[in-house]
Amino acid sequence: MFRVDYSFIQNFLSQKRNIIITTHKTPDGDALGSSLALLHVLKTNHNVNIIVPNDYPHYLKWMPGNDDVLIYEENEEQSDSLINQSDLIFCLDFNKLYRVDTMFNILNNNNSYKIMIDHHQDPDSFCDQILSDSSVASTAELIYDFLINLDYCLDKDIATCLYTGIVTDTGSFKYPNVTKKTHEIISALLHFNIDHSFIHQQLFDSQNQSRLLLLKRALETLKLFKHQKTALTFLTAEDLLNADYKKGDTEGFVNMPLSLNDIIFSAFFIEFKDGIKMSFRSQGDFDVNVFAKKYFNGGGHKNAAGGVLMGKKMVDAIQYFSDVLDSFSNDI
Ligand code: 5GP
Ligand code: MN
Repeated sequence: MFRVDYSFIQNFLSQKRNIIITTHKTPDGDALGSSLALLHVLKTNHNVNIIVPNDYPHYLKWMPGNDDVLIYEENEEQSDSLINQSDLIFCLDFNKLYRVDTMFNILNNNNSYKIMIDHHQDPDSFCDQILSDSSVASTAELIYDFLINLDYCLDKDIATCLYTGIVTDTGSFKYPNVTKKTHEIISALLHFNIDHSFIHQQLFDSQNQSRLLLLKRALETLKLFKHQKTALTFLTAEDLLNADYKKGDTEGFVNMPLSLNDIIFSAFFIEFKDGIKMSFRSQGDFDVNVFAKKYFNGGGHKNAAGGVLMGKKMVDAIQYFSDVLDSFSNDI
């Protein structure tokens, strides 16, 4: 666990500052919800900009403040200039600088004061202060603590963004790292009259038709490694093209095989032009973070991780996966 010096931060924020909030590539609900909540709090007294590395799915584009989010890949010059003029950069929901992808160089060469708020294991030391606890289910819960410790008042917009962060990173409150405190925070957020049904509807019931076509295709590829209690599903670049894939369409596919009895490890592979991106999910003690780090150039959390194999074809990636699975048989 890493704690920040709140009196230092309070003092730092006692003057009007130029602040950047950034997060990881292809931001998810936790990354955006946390960023937007912090934006709403800080914009009263500071110049604040959210810059995310690249675009994100449509079902995250309804949150209050979304129109103010700058996408680095689409606004490089303006973003570089804002970053260079900043006094303070918040790095939210990531712990390794490479996770910002195309923003790596500008952030790496920049001397602004940096504060990380995150919940992944083993944070790297590219920030001046770190608030991190890998036992906490979402960065949004840490943002809630951060704001309360700094005596900020919340409102309906802030509560809506934090709720979105928590609900998305906890699998709608079902993952084992959900605690009494998670629900206490949710209860506090509900005091602001947020429309939780609307939030769930925006997140989970407003999908593209392409998503269902891809789900059908992915389920057809289901391969079970019964001895290792493992399931693999995948989509090729051709599948994506045929279904008119849009960003976010495959979110959550990796979880589906875990609904099977006796399957505790699920892998989902997706083919992009440079290689294969993989998602891993487990139930119980099998640590997919270790697995992803060791074999797939990735990482994440114990029960949810990802990785990448650059320059590989799908058939080779699948063969490699079944080979390495053998060496993990005793751990699953
Ligand atoms: P997802 O499968 O949803 O893309 O990612 C699940 C988790 O794994 C997320 O918490 C994310 O931080 C982590 N993750 C995904 N891809 C990578 C990767 O390439 N490298 C690292 N270090 N973590 C990843
Ligand atoms: Mn997160």
